[in-house]
Amino acid sequence: MKKIGLTTTVPIEILIAAGYTPVDLNNIFIASDNYMKYIDIAEKDGFPKNMCAWIKGIYGACIDNDIKEVVGVVEGDCSNTKVLVDVFKLRGIKAYPFSFPHRHTMEEVKNEINEFMKLFDVKYDDAERVRERLNMIRELAKEIDRLTYDESVISGFENHLYQLCLSDFNGDIGKYESDMKDLIKTASKREPIKKKLKLGYIGVPPMMSDIYEYVENFDARFVYNEVQREFAFPRADKAVDIYGQYYDYTYPYNLDFRIKELQKQINKRELDGIIHYTQAFCYRATEYIILKEKLNIPILNIEGDKLNVLDARTKLRIEAFLDMLVDLKETSK
Ligand code: SF4
Repeated sequence: MKKIGLTTTVPIEILIAAGYTPVDLNNIFIASDNYMKYIDIAEKDGFPKNMCAWIKGIYGACIDNDIKEVVGVVEGDCSNTKVLVDVFKLRGIKAYPFSFPHRHTMEEVKNEINEFMKLFDVKYDDAERVRERLNMIRELAKEIDRLTYDESVISGFENHLYQLCLSDFNGDIGKYESDMKDLIKTASKREPIKKKLKLGYIGVPPMMSDIYEYVENFDARFVYNEVQREFAFPRADKAVDIYGQYYDYTYPYNLDFRIKELQKQINKRELDGIIHYTQAFCYRATEYIILKEKLNIPILNIEGDKLNVLDARTKLRIEAFLDMLVDLKETSK
């Protein structure tokens, strides 16, 4: 099957029905032992120093892996993707646009998805058949999530990784399904992880995945990964069709819609605090102003750039934040 690169989560049901194997370029970039080479490729081709590392990594991963077709989300995800799509075209890569509409109405979402189906010559029933199959696997992600916050037998990092990779089912649906089943089986035999603080991770997935291990050095663990969970479509079983499923995806739409789901999960998982990650040079960093006002919970904002490990200053800030949360928890008893 032909590979098609993704710049973020899109209705992959349509791409699979069209005979493609979707490949999330973010995952190729960040999972590489030599991830910096992808940034270097982009910078050598003229991407500015002061541009987000994810955009450069996506570009480098696409060029270096000789991917000839991509889907670029030009509305609702990242303002930089518009220009990225233009550079892809310049390099002879076929770029298909997709938009999560600014006006978050069912009618607009439906129009975009219908356009996307037309672009790939896919019929509604065929896309729905694929959705049914994928949603069976997405149920496994829900169980992995439950085993994290409810039974405490899955780590924050595993929770992050297994949900994140559902953006493209790790390039092999059958194998990924069996990997998830294996994790559930193994985890069910584990002893629960005992930590005083329950944390939420919100914002774009981190450049530095050692953040999960780092917080576990203290009396804390992540039991919620906001955007990674959205990539796994945890409410897909409630959606009557593909339109409903992509309408009910919080990340690309307005902040108020996203905040409702965040507050629900903060309460349900009884979180003690949140770490909000922002990427250097990303417009989303400004969302912190609104999130800290509207969410009823202590939040620490951290920023990453090109490094894929935590720097000393961020480590110190996290440690101080966790200390403060422990004090808060003990005084409120
Ligand atoms: S981190 Fe921000 S600027 Fe970078 S790709 Fe994501 S949304 Fe775009």
